[in-house]
Amino acid sequence: MAEQIELTRPAAASDKLQTVNPADGSPGKSYDPNSIDDARTAAKAAHAAFLDWRRTSFADRSAVLQKAAEILRARETEFARLMTEEMGKTLDDGRAEIEKCAFHCDWFADHAGEYLAEQPADIGGGEAFVTFNPIGIVLAVMPWNFPFWQVIRAAAPALMAGNGMLLKHASNVPGCALAIEELLHQAGVPRDLFRTLLLPSSDVEALIKDENIAAVTLTGSVPAGKSVATAAGSVLKKCVLELGGSDAYVVLEDANIEAAAKLAATARMVNGGQSCIAGKRFVVVRSIVEPFTAALVEAMRGYQMGDPTTAGTKLGPMVSIKARDEIHRQVEESVANGAKLMLGGQVPDRPGAWYPATVLGNVRPGQPAHDEEVFGPVAAVIAADDEADAIRIANDSEFGLGSGVLTSDLDRGRRIAAEELDAGMSFVNENVRSDPRTPFGGVKHSGYGRECGAFGIHEFTNIKTVHVKAEIKAGAKKVE
Ligand code: NAP
Repeated sequence: MAEQIELTRPAAASDKLQTVNPADGSPGKSYDPNSIDDARTAAKAAHAAFLDWRRTSFADRSAVLQKAAEILRARETEFARLMTEEMGKTLDDGRAEIEKCAFHCDWFADHAGEYLAEQPADIGGGEAFVTFNPIGIVLAVMPWNFPFWQVIRAAAPALMAGNGMLLKHASNVPGCALAIEELLHQAGVPRDLFRTLLLPSSDVEALIKDENIAAVTLTGSVPAGKSVATAAGSVLKKCVLELGGSDAYVVLEDANIEAAAKLAATARMVNGGQSCIAGKRFVVVRSIVEPFTAALVEAMRGYQMGDPTTAGTKLGPMVSIKARDEIHRQVEESVANGAKLMLGGQVPDRPGAWYPATVLGNVRPGQPAHDEEVFGPVAAVIAADDEADAIRIANDSEFGLGSGVLTSDLDRGRRIAAEELDAGMSFVNENVRSDPRTPFGGVKHSGYGRECGAFGIHEFTNIKTVHVKAEIKAGAKKVE
């Protein structure tokens, strides 16, 4: 294996990454950032490590991923606590996130071999097959909202495919970023093959262009997606983008209203509303909009703000005061433009980045709750004339990540989900979620490419066609 390199973490005080506990605004640990020179050194070493890793067997890689799953489970509370301290996730949610990471590692440990097995191709005589070669070092640029899951979601299949990875995590979760590096090394991932770089986002473009980086995957906002796609495009490198979402749930007149409202609240409040696939717009057929909204208000009232470290807390703080203020701006502007405040909507008078569960009725075009992604605990109810109008409204968004249909008519739900909703994922009568077994990703400004499942692991492989003849033979005249 390649010799280990030590990254310099220069201590320029002004550049330090300072973590802040969102629950009370208190400062946490500070970290020295890496330089772009560190990143280039890491990329070179990672590429050298990749040349060995790509020759390892699936069985060897599986053993490493299974060990990673074991470590995740053994250190669940420690990792969950780190997330709570750095970005405010409730401890309960953090534990569930770590368990999901472990399941994901196990899943790819068990199934990567099958996903990446050679596929024979019938070419009407002679041997031909498709094989999946690793491509090299993938740069992963990741967000803070699921600090472990987003990284493991990308890393497990990439490593199983024989690739290496450099992680540039969000600047507010450096402790999580380093913990992930440490746990993967503890599991047996060669040190140089996976490195965490505490880099500012202004260095991402230069790193994408480094000769030792083969591809880039970004989970984050639309502006970050555009800048990563532009940099990757300028050097013709593969890129996968998992961006924002404003998921709509179509609520039809035949739905069970109580159950639909409870599901809507659960969909909206995942991770305090700070999820790309949180349900953000509830498009309700007009005949049931009143009882649905009343039931939704009741369900949302159940999400009281509380100490994120206490078991059973359903709503912790937002990630930062800045993010909380942006949510409040979106609520206030929506109300100023005709939305009806049915619950919440007031910034509490206490230290920390708190925002209550909020419901807006009468949401329409021209209001941020309709037109923008609201990354917090704010449910928007939009009335539709009928099924066709509801589908039109659901699709009237720059985003196309997840979507839902709530109905008691399964054929109707299946048809709308499969054929009508302009989104990467459509769920009937359940919450949109990511799952290692099925592809995850979006259309329109929600990005492109897929993670999870066979489609996800194939993204960072060279899908190679091989034709084999027993004897050297000049072929028939060829057309390209
Ligand atoms: P963000 O500001 O785009 O940050 C995400 C990552 O990109 C961070 O590591 C950030 O680094 C980096 N970054 C920011 N600007 C960049 C640029 N111009 N060039 C290169 N890298 C850049 O997003 P966020 O506010 O943390 O996360 C919320 C957004 O992510 C929401 O829109 C949400 O819907 C989306 N998201 C999508 C998914 C999905 O799977 N589709 C999942 C989760 C979140 P710094 O922290 O150093 O700025």
